[in-house]
Amino acid sequence: MAEKYSYAGAIHIHSKFSDGTGDVFEISKAAKNAGLKWIIITDHDCMDIEEGIFNEVYVIKGEEISPKVSNHYLAFGINNVIPSDIAPCDYIDSVRENGGFGFVAHPDESEKRKNSARPIRWEDKSLMPDGIEIWNWFSDWADHYDDSSIFSVAYSYIFRHNLVKGPKNETIHWWDNLNNKSDRDIVPAICGVDAHALRISKYILPVTVFPYISSFKTLTNILYLPEQLPMDFVEAKKLILDAIKSGNNLIINRHISAAIPDIFVSNSLGDFYCGDTLKKDDTTFLNIKTIKGAEFKIFLNGKIYDIPPKEGNSYKLEKVGKYRVEIYLKGRPWVFSNPIIVS
Ligand SMILES: [Zn+2]
Ligand SMILES: [Zn+2]
Repeated sequence: MAEKYSYAGAIHIHSKFSDGTGDVFEISKAAKNAGLKWIIITDHDCMDIEEGIFNEVYVIKGEEISPKVSNHYLAFGINNVIPSDIAPCDYIDSVRENGGFGFVAHPDESEKRKNSARPIRWEDKSLMPDGIEIWNWFSDWADHYDDSSIFSVAYSYIFRHNLVKGPKNETIHWWDNLNNKSDRDIVPAICGVDAHALRISKYILPVTVFPYISSFKTLTNILYLPEQLPMDFVEAKKLILDAIKSGNNLIINRHISAAIPDIFVSNSLGDFYCGDTLKKDDTTFLNIKTIKGAEFKIFLNGKIYDIPPKEGNSYKLEKVGKYRVEIYLKGRPWVFSNPIIVS
């Protein structure tokens, strides 16, 4: 396996063309200042935003197919808006027929919220989407936002990061199950910021809550590419979308720590990262290089897998299957890898 190049980016962003507030210049500038190289803007049922390279950031447009009550779906690699007034199984197909692929957005928003924002959930988990947004920053926050008093509202905004508690168990469970029964190599996962830079005025003076730049410093997709991103936008877009479709990304909340861990499987043939497939030999190790104090869990085919550490954080892999890693810092969810397939 050749050398990998990693690029930080954000997915699931709303602009002024739907319920966000920024234009492509403002959003790309915030992304650059947050250290991102690429972003995907997904307005509700709309693809009017311009794409290209802005402020040295590759700006790609997709669509959040957004029926009113439930079943939001992030569609990438399409050129025209897919209508949201058809059944979810039909827009999953329609995205594919239009040459794209899609991820179920915020599938398990809480039904026990202490605020008036209605949860938008994915209803039919027997469907087979192309991938899942396993962690959505804004949904996670909204699930824990309490608007019952001025004090709880103030707490929710000032200590906003405390309200973000990680992917839902039921989402992870669904994702693992889809991977276990998939005859495809991988059912990939992404994280989404669901950035809007909303302006609100409840209890307080109108302010921009969660400006784009602060969203962009939270849930980040670290993409592993086989080559450096070229200057040509069309080529770069293809590389980025192909990698997302293949699960070549690591999910990290950079607010917890921006020290990006290195998670890879190595053997005599080289190093293999998220979304890669390799043939097992006698020297196949899972390597986790991260900061002190980080605790990790290793999963094989969705089940916790205890392997005695060899040296440092290298684990000899004796079994074939789909391996993935979760990392926690001070008990808080921090990093989720896509599976690496050992065959
Ligand atoms: Zn949505
Ligand atoms: Zn959204």
